[in-house]
Amino acid sequence: MPIEKISFEESLKKTVIDNGLCTGCGACVVSCPYNCLDYDAGPKIISECKVCGICANVCPRYNVSITSLEQLIFGRERRLEEEFGVFKRVLVAQTRDENIMRVCQDGGVVTSILVSMLEDGVIQGSAISGKDVMNPLKATPVLALSKEDIIQCAGTRYTYSPNLLALRSGVQKKIGKMAFVGTPCQICAIRRIQALPLKKYVEALKFTIGLFCSESFVYDGLVKGLLQEKMGIKPEDVEKINIKGKFIIKIRDGQVKAVPLKEAKEYACRFCNACPDFSAELADISVGGLGLDGWTLTITRTDVGDEILRRVESKGIIKTKPLEDNKLMELLIRMSRKKREASMGKTT
Ligand SMILES: Cc1cc2nc3c(=O)[nH]c(=O)nc-3n(C[C@H](O)[C@H](O)[C@H](O)COP(=O)(O)OP(=O)(O)OC[C@H]3O[C@@H](n4cnc5c(N)ncnc54)[C@H](O)[C@@H]3O)c2cc1C
Repeated sequence: MPIEKISFEESLKKTVIDNGLCTGCGACVVSCPYNCLDYDAGPKIISECKVCGICANVCPRYNVSITSLEQLIFGRERRLEEEFGVFKRVLVAQTRDENIMRVCQDGGVVTSILVSMLEDGVIQGSAISGKDVMNPLKATPVLALSKEDIIQCAGTRYTYSPNLLALRSGVQKKIGKMAFVGTPCQICAIRRIQALPLKKYVEALKFTIGLFCSESFVYDGLVKGLLQEKMGIKPEDVEKINIKGKFIIKIRDGQVKAVPLKEAKEYACRFCNACPDFSAELADISVGGLGLDGWTLTITRTDVGDEILRRVESKGIIKTKPLEDNKLMELLIRMSRKKREASMGKTT
């Protein structure tokens, strides 16, 4: 299908950026064939737009048709009862690697899959997110090319990380086979890039892992406002932050401090209000903590994703178990429904 030829100013600037809907995912920047856009916490136009329309057609906030993306990825649209998207299996999983378990966010599934696929030669690199050198609680895109790189990036930073910039860097470096890890908006952007298709990314990308996401947080608000000023915690003293009903901060001296999630939500990114997707419904594999302790709730959605998970299960790299009761499934459905309903009327 021919794409809508519309300028950056008429599409993304007017309806997405000026309305506070831009997530800063960077899809438009990495897709512009004329390099008209630069990235500075979001797209910035640096030379005259050639009106090819590609930027608008890869944006996760501009005229997205979920049903046509579902047709592309799954060969069908979701059924009415598939409230958290099309899926094959839902299970809980945990890495068997103690080194990964020590540094991961939940069950270390993401890190274990990436390491295993790298070692097997399925991928040569991963577009993921690591710690900013100066501010370790700030997420920054990383092109991970070794096991050590991948393990260093384990764990969650709750600020926004435009991992598509790492994907571009991999393509520029001619890394032929890559995995992509990202939030639901970024997975949507990747699928739109595949739908066009932008050949250089389609050829390089082997699979995607989507992270469940209620929202991202603004670094200055979360770290300076909440942690430093309100709670008196220095960022360098933080070992881990996790959200499990509450906002929980584990400090290096062993103390654990928690505040109601409501207090952290004050610093949530505004653009997240327009997001309908909690569980990365378009990814090959989707993962989240969902209140579990030391386990990752894992959803396989595509044949590719299911095969990868079966491969790491059969190699004994991760252990898996079925959901013990309906409570987790109900929670997943509730969270998905809540996010979708809250976003209604807020997108373009
Ligand atoms: C902003 C954000 C909000 C989230 N909200 C929820 C939620 O509401 N409910 C829920 O159940 N789960 C949420 N998650 C997912 C959860 O925190 C874990 O990432 C997931 O359970 C996988 O755990 P793991 O131990 O298998 O991953 P690990 O093995 O620890 O690997 C985590 C991977 O995530 C990548 N990563 C870290 N920070 C970011 C970032 N900011 N952006 C993109 N990639 C990143 C790392 O590069 C790493 O590859 C959220 C994640 C993020 C980034």
